[in-house]
Formats: sequence, C-alpha cells, structure tokens
Amino acid sequence: MAENKAYESFSDSPKQLITSENQNSFDIYCPELSCKCLILRAKHGILVERPKEKLKISDEPAYTDLKGFAIKNDTKNDASNDASSSQLQGFWQLTDMMAFENIGFSKTIIETGIKYICCADCNAGPLGYHDTTANEKEYLIAVNRVSYKEVAISS
Ligand SMILES: [Zn+2]
Repeated sequence: MAENKAYESFSDSPKQLITSENQNSFDIYCPELSCKCLILRAKHGILVERPKEKLKISDEPAYTDLKGFAIKNDTKNDASNDASSSQLQGFWQLTDMMAFENIGFSKTIIETGIKYICCADCNAGPLGYHDTTANEKEYLIAVNRVSYKEVAISS
C-alpha cells in the first residue's frame, strides 16, 4: 500500500503529480499524515496558477477555526515586499464543489469574500480557498499544502 507523501517529497513534482491533461495524477489527502482524510480523487482537479496572496491568513479571530497549517512560504514582511503579492502559485482547480470527496470551509471573510478550504476531519488549513466574489466559480487547492497518494491501478 502506498504511503501518503507531502508535496515536498516529490523530487520532480510537476512531472510526477500532473497528468498530460494537466490533472492531478494522484489522490489528494489532508496534509496531516495521521489524518488520512481523502479530499480529492485523482483526475478531478486541473492545475491552474493564481495569486498567492488570497491564501494569506491574518491573526484576526475569524481565522482561528483554521489551524494555520504549515504556511512555510508566507513571510511576515510582505508589506515591505510588494512584488510578492503578485506571485503566482499552483492550485488544483475544481468548478464543482461536489467533486470533492471530503472538504471543509471557513466562514466567508467579509472584507475579501474569501472562504478558506480546510480538512473536513481535522480542520487543517487553509488548504486553499473559494473566492465568492469571482466571476467564475472555482475552488482552489494549493498544490503544496496537501499530501498525495499514488492511485492503485485497478482493472
Ligand atoms: Zn485532516
């Protein structure tokens, strides 16, 4: 049985994680390896790039239901570095919420219209976001905030 692996453990993640149709080639799980909550099955997300900044979490009380899991690249000194706010990062995009196996959402943040996506079982997050003000409905899971498991080949 394959183990869940963190994004960082793939030496060549773009090649290994993405199908030729730009979909996720592995099943996607909660980043807490002990949790094992299945979030998204293989080939249900499409790789897109979106600005990093919508995933930024402040210390406001509205965010405290999320644990702030492993936000390694979010620096505290962004204010002094405007260039970082326009940085893009990879997300798995879904247009239908029903395509998730399990998923949790935070409350909508009133100032931004963003709902953060978290693990339905252990609340690890934010794993991604849903912008309720966007013209096109999309749910985005950050590629580097979830773990992956190789799909057993059947039939
Ligand atoms: Zn979890």
